[in-house]
Amino acid sequence: MKIGLIDIDAKIPNLALMKLSAYFKGQGDKVELTSPLFAKDFDEIFASKIFNYTVKSILPEKAILGGSGYSLKTCLDNDVEYLMPDYSLYNCDYAMGFASRGCNRNCPFCIVPKKEGKWRVAGDIYQFWNGQKRLKLLDNSLNTDEGFFIEIVKQFINEQIEVDFSQGLDIRHLTDKQVFYLKQIKLWKRIHFAWDLMKTEKAVRRGVKILTKYKLNWQSTFYVLIGFNTNLEEDLYRVNTLKGLNVESFAMPYDKYNCYQKDFTRWVNHKAIFKTVSWDDYKSNIKRGSLFKSSK
Ligand code: SF4
Repeated sequence: MKIGLIDIDAKIPNLALMKLSAYFKGQGDKVELTSPLFAKDFDEIFASKIFNYTVKSILPEKAILGGSGYSLKTCLDNDVEYLMPDYSLYNCDYAMGFASRGCNRNCPFCIVPKKEGKWRVAGDIYQFWNGQKRLKLLDNSLNTDEGFFIEIVKQFINEQIEVDFSQGLDIRHLTDKQVFYLKQIKLWKRIHFAWDLMKTEKAVRRGVKILTKYKLNWQSTFYVLIGFNTNLEEDLYRVNTLKGLNVESFAMPYDKYNCYQKDFTRWVNHKAIFKTVSWDDYKSNIKRGSLFKSSK
């Protein structure tokens, strides 16, 4: 059989499609990444859509659809879920996968608890790592359980893998012991945490204190959600507090079409400007349309 896989909107190689590829190749089928235009050339088509805000492609009727952009209820069959991904589908030179699933919190803006349920162990890195130098972990709350987190981190240390905790770690769960082991990892990217809600300030301050003790504050970035249930004063308070604590912040607009959220995000995320220009000065210098002014 000839199997076509359609990746609608993934920004990184699509893990579910790489597992499907491994499954069908294991059955002796031919597998290719394709687009809806060429769907008629295949016996079966599987399409995956990650985001709910991206445009729905026009897919052939026979296509089997999956991914959180279609439904929060679809998931891979266990025969597929636990296979080593076929990284050759995307010529992907790093490993990626989940050691745990779900999250015990219930942030109102997040789909993870609805899609994955409560936090639980999914396995270890050897289910999806086969010798690559780098690994992108997709867990949403890896450090929920201290013992499990340390077990996984020790695997990174022993295998000397460069790691990207791509979905971040939960600052509220962070402990001294976790950071002691984290410090020994080769980091591929900065470590991300979040300060989304005002009420978590105490946990953020406590966590930053531990990061600073191990000098990991310089490699840490905090996502700061703006425009969800906070006002300008609270948004300013969080980014300026983080600056004072010597950790980087990265603003995440809840509504990326909202003018205030767009401007605030640009100010915070342009590191050189954020370090040297106050919000009031930045705001008073915003002249909409000036970018298109004629040079004559
Ligand atoms: S802690 Fe993170 S993963 Fe868990 S519900 Fe909140 S935003 Fe989602």
